[in-house]
Amino acid sequence: MDSRSNYRFHTQVIHAAQKPAEWQGATLPPIFQTASHRHATAENLSNTFSGKTTDHIYMRLTNPTNRVLEEKLCSLEGGKGAVVMASGMSAVTNTCLALLRAGDEFVAGNSLFMSTYLLFSGIFKKFGITAHLVDPTKPEELEAAINDKTRLVFLETIGNPKMDVPDLSRAAKIAHDRGIPLVVDNTLGTPYLCRPLELGADVVIHSTTKYLSGHGAATGGVVIDGGRFQWDPIKFPDFKPFIDRKGDLALLDKIWREHHINFGTTQAPFHSYLTMIGIDTLALRMERHMENALSIAKFLQTREEVAWVNYPGLETHSCHAVATRQFDKKGFGGLLTFGLKDQNECFRFINHLKLIYHLANLGDCKTLVLHPYSSQYISFTEEARAKLDILPNMIRLSVGIEAVEDICEDIEQALKVVK
Ligand SMILES: *Cc1c(COP(=O)(O)O)cnc(C)c1O
Repeated sequence: MDSRSNYRFHTQVIHAAQKPAEWQGATLPPIFQTASHRHATAENLSNTFSGKTTDHIYMRLTNPTNRVLEEKLCSLEGGKGAVVMASGMSAVTNTCLALLRAGDEFVAGNSLFMSTYLLFSGIFKKFGITAHLVDPTKPEELEAAINDKTRLVFLETIGNPKMDVPDLSRAAKIAHDRGIPLVVDNTLGTPYLCRPLELGADVVIHSTTKYLSGHGAATGGVVIDGGRFQWDPIKFPDFKPFIDRKGDLALLDKIWREHHINFGTTQAPFHSYLTMIGIDTLALRMERHMENALSIAKFLQTREEVAWVNYPGLETHSCHAVATRQFDKKGFGGLLTFGLKDQNECFRFINHLKLIYHLANLGDCKTLVLHPYSSQYISFTEEARAKLDILPNMIRLSVGIEAVEDICEDIEQALKVVK
């Protein structure tokens, strides 16, 4: 990016981290498809390994194409440093494991993305790490779940498919008062809608697979460190070497050095390249996603076949006020859910759609439909699904950027067939 870092968001998405002069004039970064990098001298490689220089060594560690995406996402979220990874789940896993040790506890929302939920409620237990999952829209529950062993609060900007919106500033204050950091998965918000670091969060995570990429062409994840959290040596005793090495970016260094490179959660540079092409249009796409989602939510409310509609943009939604304030009136995201009579009706509805794609993804420019109860959550117990509000009559819609009339017409014709 040129020396101006105060460009408006619509400009930043395109121009942040651009360095055409270094790329022989190319307007997109080259894809450095190389497993490792040659070093001219023994001294140089030694200095790179010791962290004195930031040259590249080996793709599992860093890659120049990935670094451009890191700079870009760091700039969009207003962070101090970023590391891109192979998937959103690697970003979640590496961040949590860098902060938590056996015996530690943490607090998270109970409306988490499915794999994050499985990781927190089950897999982490194997490592002696206990998650307390609470209603993220109830600060008092969050506060009550924090104890002396708590090392982290983890929230998502918008719950999926619960569509709840926690108050991030309040959560940040609660966490900070107890000396622990707030990590926010901002995948559904995107930096267009919400910049959690500005609201007090310490770390932001994304699955870049979704809105950032926007075309369903690449997978990826990122961790962005705000670099402000002060690590208490008693609560976080294993941070010292990382603080000595990287100061404000101790956590990012720990995530990268201790976990990312050793777990091998490497992002392929081609995926970073595709993601960057997507980010160019992020602002425009988000505007359209959200305009369409609000229109469709209102349209669904008028249909007698539809039992209920869950979208934070509706004034009747329990999180409408928090979302309006937190998202600065820009919108309410592109995801919504609605209810039909039962699973049978949901299946018939999906099977009759002509334009809308039936698949397990979200944030694509195309409108996508899913029946979470019988797909993503099929292996969950009845009790777990009920707790997560995964209802048999629930349809999830990831609203795309097509002409809204065409999306509505497709929904309308499928609803008519269902009845
Ligand atoms: C999809 C998603 C993830 C996981 O990302 P992958 O790129 O699929 O690994 C994590 N969090 C949220 C909120 C998501 O939507």
